[in-house]
Amino acid sequence: MCPERIGFFLLLLLVGNLLHPVNAAWISIDEAIMGTKINVQIWHSDDTQGQAAINAVMEEFHRLDRKLSPYIESSELSLLNRMAANKPVSISDEFYQLLELSMDYSELTNGAFDITFASIGHQYDYRKGIKPSNKRIDQSLSLIQYKHIQLIPEKHAVFFKRPGVKIDLGGIAKGYAVDRGIKLLQQRDVKHALISAGGDSRLLGDHMGRPWHIGIQAPRDRKSMAAVLPLADSAVSTSGDYERYFERDGVRYHHIISPKTGRSADTLQSVTIIGPNATRTDALSTSIFILGASAGMALINRLNDVEAVIIDNQGNISTSDGLADLANQQTSEAAIEHE
Ligand code: ADP
Ligand code: MG
Repeated sequence: MCPERIGFFLLLLLVGNLLHPVNAAWISIDEAIMGTKINVQIWHSDDTQGQAAINAVMEEFHRLDRKLSPYIESSELSLLNRMAANKPVSISDEFYQLLELSMDYSELTNGAFDITFASIGHQYDYRKGIKPSNKRIDQSLSLIQYKHIQLIPEKHAVFFKRPGVKIDLGGIAKGYAVDRGIKLLQQRDVKHALISAGGDSRLLGDHMGRPWHIGIQAPRDRKSMAAVLPLADSAVSTSGDYERYFERDGVRYHHIISPKTGRSADTLQSVTIIGPNATRTDALSTSIFILGASAGMALINRLNDVEAVIIDNQGNISTSDGLADLANQQTSEAAIEHE
């Protein structure tokens, strides 16, 4: 860099620092909620207020966990799973809206996203290596069908048309919680933040003049990244077959269930979706994992607000049209700089 450029650069840094309050700093807190690590990072001028903002986000995650967890007996979701095949059950507006949204994603993804996957999914225990027998899967397969869920708008009630139907919002709830958390931070006038909940993250603003760098984990090598995405003001979700799984007789049993087979979807290793909010990227990453590379990428290329990075089960990486354009653009910019 020539001396004038260095001087200009230092001046920029100086001006940058003057614009920020003296005590402003990054605050980062982790907590285990919803069976995963929640990380909140914010840029704040006041440490106490910053911590309070992060605590509010964590409390929101706890609230949603209490409402939506299939592991908590008193959650609204558990109550529905116990009662809704007997009679219509009235539920909160928030839960009702999430069910409506989940069913919209079922329609959009041609049935790949289906919260009734739990009718079989709840018979797996990945930590203990427990799976239902093939016979049981075949007997229960017809229970996976979102159309068995009857929504009754006048009463905000839900009825399951078949006994044995169970639902689970594990494919959308963390993304929704991340979006709620971002909203709380915006209400407190936070301008730069990251909230991540396992595979679902959303970025508010940039990383103070630079993009955030979000890594896509290499599915078969815990220690390395398959790619790093420079992002700001967007959401990103990854669904993979390496988070919750066990192997038996050479078969990998993991937590993303194809509604057609009642078994783990097995054509991909990971799907990363980039989009405007984490509810959408969460639901779509799970869905595309099930749809597979060809139908999945076709859907993403049809939607104009989302992009995808897909890693198939040979480890080959493919990207949606918008990302390929971006990569080409960056390559030609680099070529011009080298001239
Ligand atoms: P993670 O929960 O690790 O972030 P994903 O976003 O990929 O992973 O979602 C996987 C979760 O989605 C599963 O743990 C399960 O709760 C739920 N799920 C599995 N299969 C389906 C499906 N066909 N439709 C909707 N949700 C699903
Ligand atoms: Mg998901």
